Amino acid sequence: MAAYIVAALFFIISLVGLSKQETARYGNLFGMIGMGLALVASIGSVQPNGWVYIFVAMAIGSGIGAFFARKVEMTQMPELVAILHSFVGLAAVLVGLNSYADSGQHVLDPAMHTVHLVEVFLGVFIGAVTFTGSVVAFGKLRGLLSSKPLMLPHRHKLNLAALVVSFVLMLVFVLGGGESQFALGLMTCIALAFGWHLVASIGGADMPVVISMLNSYSGWAAAAAGFMLDNDLLIVTGALVGSSGAILSYIMCKGMNRSFIAVIAGGFGTDGTSAAKEEETGEYREMTPEDVAELLKNSSSVIITPGYGMAVAHAQHPVAEITAELRKRGINVRFGIHPVAGRLPGHMNVLLAEARVPYDIVLEMDEINEDFADTDTVLVIGANDTVNPAAAEDPSSPIAGMPVLEVWKAQNVVVFKRSMNAGYAGVANPLFFRENASMCFGDARATMENILKAL
Ligand code: NDP
Repeated sequence: MAAYIVAALFFIISLVGLSKQETARYGNLFGMIGMGLALVASIGSVQPNGWVYIFVAMAIGSGIGAFFARKVEMTQMPELVAILHSFVGLAAVLVGLNSYADSGQHVLDPAMHTVHLVEVFLGVFIGAVTFTGSVVAFGKLRGLLSSKPLMLPHRHKLNLAALVVSFVLMLVFVLGGGESQFALGLMTCIALAFGWHLVASIGGADMPVVISMLNSYSGWAAAAAGFMLDNDLLIVTGALVGSSGAILSYIMCKGMNRSFIAVIAGGFGTDGTSAAKEEETGEYREMTPEDVAELLKNSSSVIITPGYGMAVAHAQHPVAEITAELRKRGINVRFGIHPVAGRLPGHMNVLLAEARVPYDIVLEMDEINEDFADTDTVLVIGANDTVNPAAAEDPSSPIAGMPVLEVWKAQNVVVFKRSMNAGYAGVANPLFFRENASMCFGDARATMENILKAL
């Protein structure tokens, strides 16, 4: 028990550490120590003759985990996280079903028996929703499933019906003393379909919220498993993950100006029509890396807004070198980070920290948005949706209302990407055709290296 309390404290300290870039490394370290302690204490509480099974399972699991974690690209991280969440969901379902099958072996007083049945039912429900929801999120992020929202007729009514029927089945199951395997089985099928539908009906532009929402669900699934297994640490850990995931979802929704309920009810985001509609007309200007170097030399203030393209191109290192070079020349260089830039929360901050860009020049969208109007040059490196003026100016755009980095207000904007293609949300970007904007085509890393050379 003492080990569990210490481990829980480590997890809380870990979360505190993770909330700031400067201390994130320690946050991770504390989390790892806490998890190590939890593992030792959990294994220690099992009969030694069961250890061999645990160690074999751990060896297989950690082997597979280590293999994939080493192989995965930073840009594939959200997919990995999504599939890991699905495992938590599946584990909660299996623990629930096992705990139900096993409950006949223990004699519980009637009140505790009822509580146990509620735990089983809720645990299986949350686990099943998390499982299929995460599988769909994985498919969408990996491009195996379309990122378009699935728009079934009466989808909100279908969701509501799934919840109401599941609730009635819970009453049947619990009031019937757990006799009705049919109620449990039927609810499991409904919950699996519900989880699938819930995420399938969310559009590409809202995927950041989905990821953090599933993170939250996986926490509640783990907490439910903790109740069933009578494991206090699992309850605490699950609650920490569940609530921090919920807070993150709220922050993401605020960052994208979405109502949380509207996002989870689904049907938001791209419907695929806007990209086709906006096969944008008009002329755009082009610049070479040498032109950009010249422009930078003549600027006194520069803001860099990185996005997903900088991550895939691994361009953060030459970007950091350009930053250092410009700062040496007395140019004020800062970074503007959109809350959903890249493919996972904090993606850009991690990359810039890795390339040793000083933290104090990396600012959040809210901190820097006012300053674009007084800025000479903005470099948009592999970002698209997060700098799209349509979000602010076109009420019919699928991303209308989402706050964006107002880069177009600067004197000069240079956009670095490989083509005129749309970003993740599939929405065309009128920024490229603005008077003060120029395109610099090519792989972001090669382009940045050329700019550095020219500087
Ligand atoms: P976008 O996905 O909107 O755009 C990225 C741009 O990078 C593309 O237009 C692409 O253009 C360009 N690009 C790709 N590869 C390269 C390369 N090698 N070199 C140069 N450019 C490249 O990125 P943003 O960061 O602006 O926006 C993030 C989007 O992802 C948002 O829609 C957000 O909702 C979504 N999302 C965010 C998540 C999060 O948690 N942060 C999670 C899931 C989704 P081209 O093909 O022409 O090169």
